[in-house]
Amino acid sequence: MKKIDPPLVDDINELSDLSLNARLKENDILSRNINNLLAHYLQYEAYAGNPWEVNSLNLEGNLASKLKLLYENPPKYQLGFIKEYRDKLSPDICPMCGGLGKGTLDHYLPKDDYPSFAVLSKNLVPACDCNSKRNTTVKGDREPERVIHPYYDTFIKHRVFKAKFSGTFESPQISMIIIDDYHEQKKVLNFHLNEVVLNNKILDWLEKRWGAMFNKPHKLLRSYLPRGMVVRSDVETAIQDKLEDSDEEYDTPNNWWSFFYAGLLDCNVRLDCITSKINQLRL
Ligand SMILES: [Zn+2]
Repeated sequence: MKKIDPPLVDDINELSDLSLNARLKENDILSRNINNLLAHYLQYEAYAGNPWEVNSLNLEGNLASKLKLLYENPPKYQLGFIKEYRDKLSPDICPMCGGLGKGTLDHYLPKDDYPSFAVLSKNLVPACDCNSKRNTTVKGDREPERVIHPYYDTFIKHRVFKAKFSGTFESPQISMIIIDDYHEQKKVLNFHLNEVVLNNKILDWLEKRWGAMFNKPHKLLRSYLPRGMVVRSDVETAIQDKLEDSDEEYDTPNNWWSFFYAGLLDCNVRLDCITSKINQLRL
């Protein structure tokens, strides 16, 4: 996950221009509904897209499908930001789940349930394929359970999750936990963790990373360790450096690599085992 700046797009202008475009076949139905749509846009911005505050709008006739078509195929000289987004998409980190994946555009409030926001720039966020995996899920059964919004939820500037290792050194049980049990957004974090991050198979990914660390810690940490035999504090410092480098490289503390390293740093037994293993392999 990553807090990113909302796009600098004047959505009110974009939509008004569309409704005035006489060459556009959607023009009639858009013009008739423009006031409703613009009011709904303002509601989205006022409530930061929160699905507990912003309702789905009942749209006239086929306006919903028209708006979704405009998103799929923007007119040549309008909604240029959608094409720009698509062209620029190759994030090295997914703002939604924190994974490392190929970029797609995600509708924060899904366009099938909230078609009025199909072409609203603040509702379009870059994401990896966690986007298709969460499908239309955006809120839970109880308020305030909802998915985190990368444009508005500033609390993700701080690390909110980490891995947790337990069990044996060889084959640990790995889970994901919320760092601050008393976080004021704990219900949001918990919902997002389950519906977006875990849903994107982070545990399989962490298991693979652990497999590599278990087999070749001396290679994975080589450039961060002193030469010769090492002690636990050397390994701890190396992993701490890896963590800080990952935070910096991905420009967010909520990337999967950082979750992995933060979890390792919590586990003294595992740090001891990694230290012994490095010394064995270096003999
Ligand atoms: Zn993702």
